[in-house]
Amino acid sequence: MKNSHPLAPGSTIGIMGGGQLGRMTALAAGQLGYKCHIFCPDEDSPASQVSAQTTVAAYDDIDALKSFAEQVDVVTFEFENIPHESVQLLAEHAVVRPGWKSLATAQDRLVEKEFINKIAPTTPFRRVTSPAELEAAADEIGRPAVLKTARMGYDGKGQVLIAPDCDYDAAWAAMGADIGILEAFVDLSREISVIIARSPGGGVATYPPVENRHVNHILDTTIAPAVMSPEMAQEAVSIAHAIADGLDLVGILAVEMFVTRKGQILVNEIAPRPHNSGHWTMDACPTSQFEQFVRAVCGLPLGDVTPHHDAEMKNLIGSAVRGWADLMSDAGARLHLYGKKEIREGRKMGHVNRIYPRGHWK
Ligand code: AMP
Repeated sequence: MKNSHPLAPGSTIGIMGGGQLGRMTALAAGQLGYKCHIFCPDEDSPASQVSAQTTVAAYDDIDALKSFAEQVDVVTFEFENIPHESVQLLAEHAVVRPGWKSLATAQDRLVEKEFINKIAPTTPFRRVTSPAELEAAADEIGRPAVLKTARMGYDGKGQVLIAPDCDYDAAWAAMGADIGILEAFVDLSREISVIIARSPGGGVATYPPVENRHVNHILDTTIAPAVMSPEMAQEAVSIAHAIADGLDLVGILAVEMFVTRKGQILVNEIAPRPHNSGHWTMDACPTSQFEQFVRAVCGLPLGDVTPHHDAEMKNLIGSAVRGWADLMSDAGARLHLYGKKEIREGRKMGHVNRIYPRGHWK
């Protein structure tokens, strides 16, 4: 594929990762006439259930990666924790979108915060590699603070609250990694996110900011659009735009932000892929985040992102999915299930969107 030409329908999109984000991307790709080929280590993954082809292999299996790259017309990712060497190898054999800069930045919280900090405010943070460094960093940035693993953390996993009476050895052991990032605790009033798509030519389309409510560090509910002043909404959108440009992103990017009690926006983290806080777009916007992702990755014109409804998205986590029969008979509930057989505590099994006339949340 040449960079300046759109990928024609009928072509195959290779997706690294087999989770629900890949599944919903594959469904959107199918609607536009594309086929998807999933690469993931698991049999019967949510994404492979709805895709033309799957390669079941480890993310560092060189032969499998090469063969996969040769069979697809573009490679993308539904999660960012793919080894550097694998992404490099894929890029030697296929067009890879988004590029390495987006992935490398989002893979490591330290690289990510340093990158973001040049563009937008974040909470103060320090790199720490031992309990002693952790204590010294806490002395500098204050307590409470949050210790996070630099790599492979998600949904609050590998996070430890550092209180004034902290046992630093125990906190270090609880984090369970060699390199951590200590962040000053944010006195937040709420959490928001902005999802932005950017095409190979640099064109962008931005969904309005949404409010995200978490339970046990896991996203529970998204309210779309977030109720906020037009000035604050514009600031959030401008930050997302600047970050997407800074990454030279091709694809879709979620920017998670905190709004402090004083009304300041601080960027928490970024994800260069579709995001749980964008699931509401499936039922409330002309173009869902998944279709938009496909459009950006294939070099197609970006779609209309103006919501035709307000929405509430609620995740079905763990055993909440057992309520599927009631939700199916609830005319107001738009149910999306991910095809995961095993119910586990904290596992995202599906989500429900409810839509309302514009202005509902005001
Ligand atoms: P993360 O994995 O960084 O998205 O963190 C998961 C959740 O923990 C966030 O959505 C916040 O609710 C909370 N959290 C993370 N970092 C901080 C912080 N520095 N201050 C306050 N709350 C935080």
